[in-house]
Amino acid sequence: MQTIERKTLLYQSGVEYADFCLNHVEGCSHGCRYPCYAFMMKKRCGIVKTYEDWCRPKVVSNALKLLDKEIPKYKDRIKHVHLCFSTDPFMYNQPEVVELSLKIIDKLNQSNIRCTVLTKGFYPKELADRNGQSTDNEYGVTLVSLNEDFRKEFEPNSASFKDRIKSLKYLHDRGFKTWVSMEPYPTPNLIKQDLRGILDAIAFVNKIIFGRLNYSVKSSEFKYTKEFYNSLALSVINFCKKNKIDCHIKTGTQEKK
Ligand code: SF4
Repeated sequence: MQTIERKTLLYQSGVEYADFCLNHVEGCSHGCRYPCYAFMMKKRCGIVKTYEDWCRPKVVSNALKLLDKEIPKYKDRIKHVHLCFSTDPFMYNQPEVVELSLKIIDKLNQSNIRCTVLTKGFYPKELADRNGQSTDNEYGVTLVSLNEDFRKEFEPNSASFKDRIKSLKYLHDRGFKTWVSMEPYPTPNLIKQDLRGILDAIAFVNKIIFGRLNYSVKSSEFKYTKEFYNSLALSVINFCKKNKIDCHIKTGTQEKK
């Protein structure tokens, strides 16, 4: 795998449910076709030229060294660190990425900084057995469907939905906090599916974040977006209340009638 060096790693994120964040990889082999917001931004800035480039990830070779410098600098201001917004820390079939992510989580936890993690890959079992792993870490997967044909079209090189849920349940059963990001949830012109079936499959998690699809041209072909997301957001809220799950509906997903 190719590598790059960066000048800085930790930064304060402007995203509504996150605090500090880091991205220790450039690109992401999952190659999501929603499309991927991170890819669009990097392409716009000229950092990545093509989709194929984006799908060939490069790890940040000096990530651990940068953390040694930056943790003491930011420690008093950090509530938690999120991995990642513009890449995937447990990228499927990318062992170098997974190995570096595990080391980064260890390093942050050893400084009493907890991590929130999100992936479309799956979590290795060894994550639960590592010394110094904080059970305050929150492990999440993205899950917007249970349909594998849909996954292959929109998240082509990611882990199967089944494997994501299985690895999350493994961590849940060992006392870790778990969560699911149901974002970007597809409109019915992309796939007709039963939200309730997806929710039932993840009823064990501590938190669900639900959000609409924003950037897809195809989604704008669906006429009843507002009614659709308002109704689904309400179903997610009610499901979470009933199952004592924390719920966060992303800004702009529910709209006034
Ligand atoms: S997993 Fe995330 S970062 Fe990777 S391509 Fe998909 S949306 Fe982009």
